[in-house]
Amino acid sequence: MERHQLLGALWEIQQNKGFIPRVDLDALALSLGTSTVDIEGVVSFYHFFSFEPRGKHTIYLNDSILSQFADRDLVVSAFEESTGARFGEVSPDGQFGLFSTSCIGLSDAEPAALIDFFPFVCLTPGRVHEVVKNIKSGASPSEICDRPQSVLYPLTPSSKAIFLGDLVPGQSLTQLSRLSPDGIIEMIREAGLRGMGGAFFPVYRKWQACKDESASRKFVICNADEGEPGTFKDRALLQMYPELLLEGMIVAGRAVGASEGIIYLRAEYRYLIKQLFSALEEFTSRGWLGKDACGLKGFSFEIRIELGAGAYVCGEETALLNSLEGFRGEPRSKTVFPTQHGFLGFPTVVNNVETLVAAARILGRGPSHFRASGTSDSPGTKLLSVAGDCLRPGIYEIEWGLELGQLLEKCGAVAPSIIQVGGPSGELCTPADFKRRFSMSDLRCGGSVMVFNAGRALMEILLNYNQFFINESCGICTPCRAGNFILGKRLASIDRGQWGEEDFDRILEWCRIIAAGSRCGLGKTAPASI
Ligand code: SF4
Repeated sequence: MERHQLLGALWEIQQNKGFIPRVDLDALALSLGTSTVDIEGVVSFYHFFSFEPRGKHTIYLNDSILSQFADRDLVVSAFEESTGARFGEVSPDGQFGLFSTSCIGLSDAEPAALIDFFPFVCLTPGRVHEVVKNIKSGASPSEICDRPQSVLYPLTPSSKAIFLGDLVPGQSLTQLSRLSPDGIIEMIREAGLRGMGGAFFPVYRKWQACKDESASRKFVICNADEGEPGTFKDRALLQMYPELLLEGMIVAGRAVGASEGIIYLRAEYRYLIKQLFSALEEFTSRGWLGKDACGLKGFSFEIRIELGAGAYVCGEETALLNSLEGFRGEPRSKTVFPTQHGFLGFPTVVNNVETLVAAARILGRGPSHFRASGTSDSPGTKLLSVAGDCLRPGIYEIEWGLELGQLLEKCGAVAPSIIQVGGPSGELCTPADFKRRFSMSDLRCGGSVMVFNAGRALMEILLNYNQFFINESCGICTPCRAGNFILGKRLASIDRGQWGEEDFDRILEWCRIIAAGSRCGLGKTAPASI
């Protein structure tokens, strides 16, 4: 076994035995020529691997603030009553384990849970009792789970839509025969496509840098690990347009000279894997994947799927690479970029789902179609996941340049008071920001928009975010690991009414230390809302 196969091996043991016993840790360490402690370190890093049994059926409830405000506590109590398991434990008969995790990408249908990694949404105490009763009677969660479909709201005219328009399978691939790799990159440059995950780095520059490397292997990796609380738009793309994602990966592969593609799928979206596999089969049978892919002599391209194991920080591209290589998903220090030294040391392009889908659309419809919407510094459209205190939660395709207030009107926001743009690591907006626009020069939103009405307690929101960052910090740098913990203590004191003026100074001081001294985006942005 090679090291990059470790996560797959751990999943197999976790699935078959319900946990990862010591004997398997030793065997894995032996086969990889490393220490058991090293393997233990990997297991302990991920939410969904465990050293102890997690029950025949494992239930994960997410602890996002949106779930909390949707009466998650009532649902937790109902699960406790019906399963006999206390929260965070396994029931005495070993049948059910009831645990908490971070956002599971179902914020438009909270409270939601994963049971054996199958989704159950819009839960009520009554529904919980019914679901557990059915499972106890022998029903499989895979049969009785929900099939969550987000409601789509295209706010752009259909002639300009990029994501929520009609799909013509293979449209982008037909362009490959007439375009050189440089020609593809030029089209992406002309369109002005930027990475849609939140960093907004120009895509053509990443692709060009990877193309310019000479190496025996290159990789295109799809980051399907959206974990920012409140976001679920990549889930919808994976559900609705798996073909477009594959097209985007093939296009990227052709442009940079890669022959291998990997979809790093977050474990919370494991229920989508069948659909992805059937899209892969279809592409292979059509000749769009494999040897001489898309009829292009000498261009071989294969795509495989690797499963994450529950770690928000793995959305950061270098953490994702470490995870894929079978290590703890700790971000690397960026002395070299993945385009030079990426997966297994080879040049690698990492783009998220939305970016790759957009790339396929640009090839299929031309860069001018993309340029026709948005603003001069922010061309194109953006998918936003909108949830919280609004009448119409769902996925909105907006043109860049839309005002925050206009979005709130469209989604039927109810007395909006706090709007979290870009998730907990983004910007906390208030009515004073309603005239601000989604754009590169103003609200740079990666996808999550959470709406809170005037009845929601600010401190409850901030404490939830803080706990999220504490839970998800990889722990490698002290400002992030210890600083967020210290901030949490101070925030909790204020929440209890025990504070003095100096607490605010200390809090601001710690916010500055964390933002300045942290290695990766998680730490740098953790204090933003505070
Ligand atoms: Fe890990 Fe936090 Fe440091 Fe990022 S900032 S590397 S998550 S400890």
